[in-house]
Amino acid sequence: GAARLALEIRGLQAWYNESHILHGVDLDVREGEVVTLLGRNGAGKTTTLKAIMGIVGKRSGSVAFNGRELINLPIERIARLGVALCPEERAIFASLTVKENLFLPPAVAKTGAMSVDRIYALFPNLRERLSSGGGKLSGGEQQMLAIARILRTGARFLMLDEPTEGLAPVIIQQIGRTIAELKREGFTILLVEQNFRFASTLADRFFVMEHGRIVDAFASVELEGRMGFLHETLGV
Ligand code: ATP
Repeated sequence: GAARLALEIRGLQAWYNESHILHGVDLDVREGEVVTLLGRNGAGKTTTLKAIMGIVGKRSGSVAFNGRELINLPIERIARLGVALCPEERAIFASLTVKENLFLPPAVAKTGAMSVDRIYALFPNLRERLSSGGGKLSGGEQQMLAIARILRTGARFLMLDEPTEGLAPVIIQQIGRTIAELKREGFTILLVEQNFRFASTLADRFFVMEHGRIVDAFASVELEGRMGFLHETLGV
């Protein structure tokens, strides 16, 4: 059966000042899916996430979230609808403790924030480090805290920008299990990943970007037949 579309993007264009970066992106994410956006450095993956969230200089086209048009809404209205972005640079407060980081994010979405007890169950490592400073955490713990913080906003649609970047394989596995658990709980996830192996174990569908456009889209069952193409376009 065809699940409802959570996100439907048509002809999305985005600019940073005079730089025209996205040239008409078409992409959709069904409710409860994990969708991975692939592409080489500079293809426009991060810009796509930022354009959905409303944090690029200028954007045009259509971004419908649960049928609601976001293209003219400011970031705070978009966040309130339950959309969140976990940026590549892992936005946590280095000078605050883990616990403070978890209690600081406002429960912006009407859908209701995830309880801290649920957060501790999802990220047992964080529970053990509640009074540690954010800046004292390992890269993997910082990534987990960054994801935990967006869950505390009550978002149900999560955009994760390269969550595995620079992390050890064992930590990457943990993050993978967390993403799979969030999917089981009904979260919808749009993932940007350079780590193709990691992405391929999690995603229901893939979109491939080149020069600010989507050049291919396929389901995980079609992955095998795409390997030649992906090797050419991404070098995987
Ligand atoms: P990466 O994996 O390197 O993050 P990406 O696919 O996410 O790659 P983007 O970060 O979206 O790519 O960058 C797309 C293009 O936009 C690049 O050419 C980049 O130099 C440019 N760009 C990114 N941020 C800005 C900015 N703030 N101002 C101007 N140009 C930018």
